[in-house]
Amino acid sequence: MDRYLNEDHRRLQRRVSDFAREAIVPVARELDDRAEFPWDNVKAMAGMGLLGVPIPKEYGGQGLDPLSYLLVVQELARYDASHAITVSAHTTLGTTPIVNFGTEEQKSRWVPLLASGQVLGGFGLTEPGAGSDSGASRTRAVREDGGWRLDGAKIFITHAGVGEIFTVTAMTEPEKRSKGITSFVVTKPTTDLERARGLGMGHADELDFIDGVRAGKKEDKMGWRASDTRELLLEDALVPEENRLGEEGRGFINFMKTLDSGRIGIAALSLGIAEGACETALHYTNQRKQFGRKVFDFQSVQFRLADLATEIEAAKHLTYHAAWLMDQGRPFSKEAAMAKLFASELSMKATIQAVQLMGGAGYTDEYPAERMLRDAKVCEIGEGTSEIQRLVIARHLVQEAFPQ
Ligand SMILES: Cc1cc2nc3c(=O)[nH]c(=O)nc-3n(C[C@H](O)[C@H](O)[C@H](O)COP(=O)(O)OP(=O)(O)OC[C@H]3O[C@@H](n4cnc5c(N)ncnc54)[C@H](O)[C@@H]3O)c2cc1C
Repeated sequence: MDRYLNEDHRRLQRRVSDFAREAIVPVARELDDRAEFPWDNVKAMAGMGLLGVPIPKEYGGQGLDPLSYLLVVQELARYDASHAITVSAHTTLGTTPIVNFGTEEQKSRWVPLLASGQVLGGFGLTEPGAGSDSGASRTRAVREDGGWRLDGAKIFITHAGVGEIFTVTAMTEPEKRSKGITSFVVTKPTTDLERARGLGMGHADELDFIDGVRAGKKEDKMGWRASDTRELLLEDALVPEENRLGEEGRGFINFMKTLDSGRIGIAALSLGIAEGACETALHYTNQRKQFGRKVFDFQSVQFRLADLATEIEAAKHLTYHAAWLMDQGRPFSKEAAMAKLFASELSMKATIQAVQLMGGAGYTDEYPAERMLRDAKVCEIGEGTSEIQRLVIARHLVQEAFPQ
């Protein structure tokens, strides 16, 4: 991987890995069990600058390249996917839309709060009737004196409870379908204000919260259980004109761009889960004895781990290559979809095999393999399902073969 990683990347990887082993591993199982948001570790990660890795320094971020950010997500996911998605959703979904599409005033108002981890951010696109077909949004934004009146419900929104700053999409011209979608920044207080305040986080006093924006039902999920996923409700919310993000009617195109970079993040997260599962299985099979020998000494076990290690290497190349294209300012939509598709399906395969290689022990919560298996599944669903990735890739194939 030397082609991609320099000494700074490796140093960052080691720092995150040390932190994860020290602070995340001891609590991951309990947080998953209780579906509890890891506030203490989020505060620690904010202190390490991990909530603003690729965000420009002038807005309070670390100003590092996309690969640095992916390595952070990957390394966290080797130990716990809930921590990794917290960083990933906050950064690519919560912060970069404002960095990429915001005015100077919007960037200086919200990005430093997000990049420092003072407040958490998110992205509200999915609706009850608009999942894969995200252009079918029913959330309405109607122009009024000084702003827009927003009404609608977003579902499955990462950080809808704990977070305070969100980019949401709404129909400003429904007859134009996807060309009538516009983005807005909405704000609301965190649902865990006391907990956040106790850690010096949360920003209730300085942010202008918008009446009618609130968190709804919290999801009881199969995986990513320590990550916060809820409805985000927009009830007769008057959003000031200065909160409109980007031009009117550009919401769809802009969130497609946001999802392209988000998909590389989910690829990195999936890679981390696959690596973690393989390591767990490798260690277990090296100490477990059956028929008088280590389980690892059976050739069929070695073959399975060898195959997984090979596919992990392939997934790294896809993912880091997509990040390189993005860093170079080249088109990377097809490569991001390929990386996400391949790595997320690999994370399922690797975690299922890890459980199998560990027998009954893999099926219990004494080892992280079963949690990793539950965490892997959603990687094939969030930020576009595997089927949608295949559609995106196929669309590129046709465009490349038959340019108009
Ligand atoms: C834990 C979690 C966190 C999430 N976080 C966020 C977030 O922060 N912000 C946000 O906006 N959203 C978020 N989501 C939503 C996520 O992006 C959607 O769940 C996802 O895009 C799929 O939409 P859906 O659930 O409505 O499934 P549907 O679109 O209803 O899909 C159901 C099935 O039909 C298939 N399908 C649909 N259309 C096609 C087609 N054209 N061809 C072939 N198959 C098709 C799908 O692949 C899937 O298998 C999150 C979801 C989860 C589970």
